[in-house]
Amino acid sequence: MTFESMGLDQRLLQAISRLQFSKPTPVQEKAIPLALEGKDILARAKTGSGKTAAYSIPVIESLIRMKESKPDEKAVRALILVPTRELAEQCLRLINNLLPFTGKLIRAVNIANNVAESIQRSLLAELPEIVVSTPARVLSNLNNSNISVKGITHIVIDEADLIMSYGYEDDLASIKKQLPKTLQVFLMSATLTADVNTLKSMLCRNPAILTL
Ligand code: AMP
Repeated sequence: MTFESMGLDQRLLQAISRLQFSKPTPVQEKAIPLALEGKDILARAKTGSGKTAAYSIPVIESLIRMKESKPDEKAVRALILVPTRELAEQCLRLINNLLPFTGKLIRAVNIANNVAESIQRSLLAELPEIVVSTPARVLSNLNNSNISVKGITHIVIDEADLIMSYGYEDDLASIKKQLPKTLQVFLMSATLTADVNTLKSMLCRNPAILTL
């Protein structure tokens, strides 16, 4: 399978080609087509497997399609939750590398780094389509009404096993309570532990389970 055969937007394909991703990795080959059908995804995928692009590509593709059908609607659409600030930076870097040809159509911010709450608020007030963060930061911004939840359509939990081992389960439950009922969910995890199963039951509707 090739990225071209997945029916992706030309501007996204151009970015993928500039990144020199010549063909999808196994997790990408499985996850991207299923995600584009709207399925929730639970994937066992380690760092190095191309997991970040496995969720970022279909999320961006869906957001481009949504934007083209409703060009005037602006909202935070996708929350990407990661266990650490470092991972948030890496994730934002890849996402921005997938966006150079889409102009201002889709914007992404990272609110996990060490910036004042006022700066997080002003970043979020611009309604970036994609927000990358740790669960705690997202929760505090939801609780302060800095993120309007109505437009959210996608949530990604990356390194779900680590997120759970860091004790973020209650934060995730509180986040989930505030979000719209119909969301597309991506759970990415190096190991499928009992904790990850708990998250699956909490967040997913009948996900495609990719153990690869
Ligand atoms: P990750 O597993 O998301 O941490 O990605 C590991 C590395 O693989 C990153 O440097 C990515 O930029 C790179 N990568 C992701 N997808 C591909 C691909 N299809 N072809 C080549 N490299 C890739």
